[in-house]
Amino acid sequence: MKKIGVLGWILIGFVVGIIVGAIVGKPITVIKPLGTLFINLLKMLVVPLIFSTLAAGVSTFTGEKLGRMIGKTFFWYYLTGIAAMIIALIIAGISGAGIGFPVGELKAVQIKAPPSLIDVGLNVIPTNPIESLAKGDILPIIFFAIVLGMSIAAVGKAAEPLKNFLQALAEAMYKLVGYVLWYGPIGVFALMATTVGTYGLSILKPYAYLIFLVYLANAIQFFGVYPALMRLMGIRPYRYLNKIKESPIFAFTTCSSSATLPVSMRVCKAAGVPDRTCSFVLPMGATVNMDGTGMYQAISAIFLANAFGIQLTFYHYIMIAVVSLLASIGTAGVPGAGLIMLSMVLGAIGVPIEGIGIIAGVDRIMDMARTAVNVADDTVATVIIGKTEGDELPDDLLFGKSTA
Ligand code: ASP
Repeated sequence: MKKIGVLGWILIGFVVGIIVGAIVGKPITVIKPLGTLFINLLKMLVVPLIFSTLAAGVSTFTGEKLGRMIGKTFFWYYLTGIAAMIIALIIAGISGAGIGFPVGELKAVQIKAPPSLIDVGLNVIPTNPIESLAKGDILPIIFFAIVLGMSIAAVGKAAEPLKNFLQALAEAMYKLVGYVLWYGPIGVFALMATTVGTYGLSILKPYAYLIFLVYLANAIQFFGVYPALMRLMGIRPYRYLNKIKESPIFAFTTCSSSATLPVSMRVCKAAGVPDRTCSFVLPMGATVNMDGTGMYQAISAIFLANAFGIQLTFYHYIMIAVVSLLASIGTAGVPGAGLIMLSMVLGAIGVPIEGIGIIAGVDRIMDMARTAVNVADDTVATVIIGKTEGDELPDDLLFGKSTA
């Protein structure tokens, strides 16, 4: 009999979690700490993993390659982002989402103000890198790791010990990711059981249409747009998605791109994408590349505008697309962050910010789908950029190399 690997157990934990959550309901939330433990274990790995792999990876780049990688990475991020916006606008636009929704039951909510985009931009440069590492601020860590990697390359031989140290740290961190994954089945079980137990079907009912539209848009992006792009680039899409599926599954359960990052790095590497490409494209993507979140924000904004009886014009739709894309860039890779940033989109089209209160109660359900797409997005960008950079990908991922 074939041995069930860790992924098999994780899938079992996922399905059993849904069933147990549905049967037991609210009382199952007592096992929530088991899920939190898992998320904490993953988060523990994020900072040392990104820092060591990225700095070590960049130290092997030439200046020209680095510039090209940055350009390509952002090109792919925003190419898929634009596709996502078109899908979201079409789906929400023709569905009439939110028309007639009773906004009278509005609950007042306290909303944290989203950071301004200028602040997000400026905060990329760490005034104190050690503080950024300690606080786990991903973008400043990425910035520092890149410039450190560049200077290691420039120094050359004298900086070899530092490079070797970073490489050794990266290897050890990957090993640790493997160990943490063994707790995955229990963690995923607990997270799913608690989520399903908390949101019984009855809570979801009034929001079923909105949730359906968000899932539909995300599914089109995941199963349609990404495979099409990979195919275009000569990569076997479903084979690749099959190889990296742990990553979206973890994202679905944890609702955090950041916490899923160690898993994404591991699966992309295991799928055959070289380490230095993974360590460059994935961490940045986990922070600034969020197609799922952008689509959710656009659809929710249209839903709420309709619910409040706001007549949407062509101008509104353009604003929604542009601001959702920007808001998704500013969204942190943690649960619920997209909901806070949604206030930016609502503000841009004149929908009352209180609208957030209408969907806050079921946000977690939508967070699962959008986070899964957010991370799939990064893993797809990784393999595509790797291919265009001449990375040696395994034959079974490439059209024309394998017939199976
Ligand atoms: N939870 C999402 C993520 O981590 C962000 C969001 O709330 O949209 O990718």
